[in-house]
Amino acid sequence: MDITSGDEAAVDDTDRSDQLYLGGRWVKAESAERISVVSPFTEEVIGSVPAPTGREADAAVAAARAAFDSGEWRRTPVERRIEVLLRLADRYEAVVETMGRTLTAEMGAPIGWTVRAQAGGSVAIIRAMAEEARRYPWEEDRLDGRAAVLREPVGVVVAIPPWNVPQTTALSKVVPALLAGCSVVVKPSPETPLDALLLAKLFDDVGLPDGTLSILPGGREIGERLVAHPGVDHVAFTGSTAAGRSIASVCGRDLKRCTLELGGKSAAIVCDDADLDQVTAGLRTASFNISGQACIAQTRVLAPRGRYSEVVDALAGLARGLTLGDPADPATDLGPLVTSAHRDRVLSYIDLGEREGARVVAGGSKPPAGLTRGWFVAPTVFADVGNDMRIAREEIFGPVLCVIPYEDTDEAVALANDSDFGLAGSVWTQDPERADALAREVRTGMIGVNGFRPDFSLPFGGVKASGIGREFGREGLDAYVESKAYYRTAPR
Ligand code: NAD
Repeated sequence: MDITSGDEAAVDDTDRSDQLYLGGRWVKAESAERISVVSPFTEEVIGSVPAPTGREADAAVAAARAAFDSGEWRRTPVERRIEVLLRLADRYEAVVETMGRTLTAEMGAPIGWTVRAQAGGSVAIIRAMAEEARRYPWEEDRLDGRAAVLREPVGVVVAIPPWNVPQTTALSKVVPALLAGCSVVVKPSPETPLDALLLAKLFDDVGLPDGTLSILPGGREIGERLVAHPGVDHVAFTGSTAAGRSIASVCGRDLKRCTLELGGKSAAIVCDDADLDQVTAGLRTASFNISGQACIAQTRVLAPRGRYSEVVDALAGLARGLTLGDPADPATDLGPLVTSAHRDRVLSYIDLGEREGARVVAGGSKPPAGLTRGWFVAPTVFADVGNDMRIAREEIFGPVLCVIPYEDTDEAVALANDSDFGLAGSVWTQDPERADALAREVRTGMIGVNGFRPDFSLPFGGVKASGIGREFGREGLDAYVESKAYYRTAPR
């Protein structure tokens, strides 16, 4: 796939197909091994990039270490660092269509979402974090000026994003880390290396000093090597809870800082006074967006017994009304899942739900009608789900909703909180006081009333098995600084 074809002249069109973006330079890859990208829709190979070797991963850390320890970036005034990042935002803005098409081709997500939420969202993240950096207390006087707190860059950062929201999760780390003065090695997922290559082209020549940034798409073994590398100070990870636990244990052993954005099983509490048209309109995105392959997907719907069948029928209608098809077609609601292995995993959960005694009211494990290729799963709604069933406890990461009944709002809160995860959630009611009371009781990192859409000026992240730390907003910069107490004068 030629990612530089299209309407934008702003992308570097040099052939980089045998090169890696290592230490801010394009270098010829030392191995002939390549990472192939298979379209989830056509099931055909659409491109490939060179696979980095362990030695190249080490070289990226060495370059980042040297840039941090003896280079100029961390000493560059923050206003200048902001300028560099804003230059990136301008370049990025010129290629949002190309970036969207690239992502849609790689991961099968609908084009409207990839252009708006991933590519457009990335530009918005850069600008929002630049604004945060302008306001951030990089240096704060204390003790009437006799002392100060300096917020200094944490050092060399390894950023590991997942495939499902690859651009925004890369930039949610790289941008604040660079604004803080860190050096960064990014390791994008092997499922989505083409958008990463385009991002590297956008970063090239933006004004970062040599060594400050490397972008090396690679597999888990490269990620493990980077995490364990002694030259690294902070690991910023988004991905599965299982990988997060493993990374946290290595960081604990080595006493490296880490931030972890992990899985979720978020609950939507539908109250007995909820407007069901509003609920279905909101959950269309909040539950089924990108075929449910979203960490913040609201996959447990808690419904009052008195309106249980009404809620189930409304959600079944929503699921049946979604259009599956070519993700490059703007009319498509849901594209295929990212890989055949992931599709099979989601289907195995649908089979499990039936064995556990839940009732399929929409979708199911049969292939959706009329689609002869592509890794599709029909949007599926399970009724009669108990919160102790595995389909209600484990992250399925597909278009699968569990509708769980409750007696009263105390029980709804208890069910929402009875989860290993604590990422997001929502409350659906016409009563603002009730909404406020419930929102405060749910133990998650984020919650919304009658809808939920993250904003880049607010902290994003979870509690319990959903992770440690926050991205975006002022809190998104906190992860990349160390507070140094600076006693300016001798003790009195
Ligand atoms: P994954 O954990 O399999 O992989 C994520 C990334 O980590 C990939 O780049 C992978 O190569 C790398 N990796 C895997 N194991 C590693 C290890 N031990 N050491 C170093 N690197 C390792 O996850 P995925 O399947 O790519 O993404 C889906 C998961 O991500 C879901 O669980 C989803 O909920 C989660 N996610 C969370 C958020 C959030 O903000 N909380 C956002 C998006 C996705």
